[in-house]
Amino acid sequence: MGRITDKAKAEEETLSDGQRVRHLSLRHFRNYESLDLEIGDGINLISGKNAQGKTNLLEAIYLLSSTRLLRGQRDTEAVQEGFDRAQVSAELAPLSTLLSVALERGLRKRVLLNGLALPRASDVLGRLPCVCVSSADLPLISGEPADRRLFLDLELSQLYPAYLRHLAVFKRAVEQRNSLLKLAQTQHVEAELFETWEAQMALHGAALRVQRMEFLSNLVPYAQEAQSCIGDGENIELSYLPKDDAVTEEELAAAFKDGRRQEIARGSTLIGPHRDDFRVDVAARDARLYASQGQQRTSMLSVKLGTMELERGERGSAPLLLLDDILSDLDESRRARLMSLIVEHAGQTLLTCTEPAAAGKEVLRSAQVYRVEAGQVSK
Ligand code: ATP
Ligand code: MG
Repeated sequence: MGRITDKAKAEEETLSDGQRVRHLSLRHFRNYESLDLEIGDGINLISGKNAQGKTNLLEAIYLLSSTRLLRGQRDTEAVQEGFDRAQVSAELAPLSTLLSVALERGLRKRVLLNGLALPRASDVLGRLPCVCVSSADLPLISGEPADRRLFLDLELSQLYPAYLRHLAVFKRAVEQRNSLLKLAQTQHVEAELFETWEAQMALHGAALRVQRMEFLSNLVPYAQEAQSCIGDGENIELSYLPKDDAVTEEELAAAFKDGRRQEIARGSTLIGPHRDDFRVDVAARDARLYASQGQQRTSMLSVKLGTMELERGERGSAPLLLLDDILSDLDESRRARLMSLIVEHAGQTLLTCTEPAAAGKEVLRSAQVYRVEAGQVSK
């Protein structure tokens, strides 16, 4: 790992090593009234018909890992209809840590570690590292720059708490500067006011860019390995696309200063890492424009599974892998190679599908199989 990552690593608190979920319990979460479930260390295959609660189960774990839901606008949408409060808890191995998230209508979500509420929900990031893959991640390849930035921000925040701090300060400074830009449309605004926020944007923005670029370049070989395996020799390239040429803090500060006049007319900040993107090339073509459905899904999976390997390298153990309904659009040979890759490389994994047979014999041999029916789970 390079210099910057080492620095980011040195800045942050010690991360938990090798956490996995031993026991999951849900109360009034989505369509689960009450669930207590032991989860195996290897591959857990969650099968069931449509609308039974497979995705909801993965979402509960994702919530513990990231404090975010997989879908929905507000956290309380996940509280079971007709109830006011949901609780998702997991006992983690090997340290028997108890991690809980409580969602209550009208209140802020609370994250508890061994029964004690964390000051900020985001303090939990990195405790239960997890890589989650579902069709909802396809915009990572085919969507807008914002979709790809979200991927970078989520992954880097999970890996490095220092990144999250840079991001929070940077975003706040951009908001403040945007308010000034709008104000300046109708009245004179002192240059010093701009400079205060621009200095923060430059300092933290430069750090964000450096860490994102380093993350992507570290990710490339892992993503290539996965793509080549699933896509039978197919190549993938990832390249960061900054919105402007500024690299250092000084260059960014100068760019913000130079951009002021034009940006006052627009009322928003047009350059900087909050406008950056990255490009994915599959088989030497821009995947956003040219990749087939199967290639899009393969490259999305390769980026995510590459992230899993990168995290393993950083932490010394694989993050939990959540795979929701990932097999559609893949032909039989890609499916088989994907499943072999997961059996060989993944740590604790939860994989959903409507028919267990779809996961293939190799997975079935090693997996614990669960059946979900109307919010009840049986082995
Ligand atoms: P599919 O195979 O179609 O993806 P699934 O098993 O993944 O199905 P889920 O997405 O887990 O299904 O959803 C199961 C059910 O949970 C849905 O019918 C949905 O309406 C229900 N549900 C979602 N949110 C809530 C809630 N807050 N209260 C009660 N039920 C909910
Ligand atoms: Mg589902």
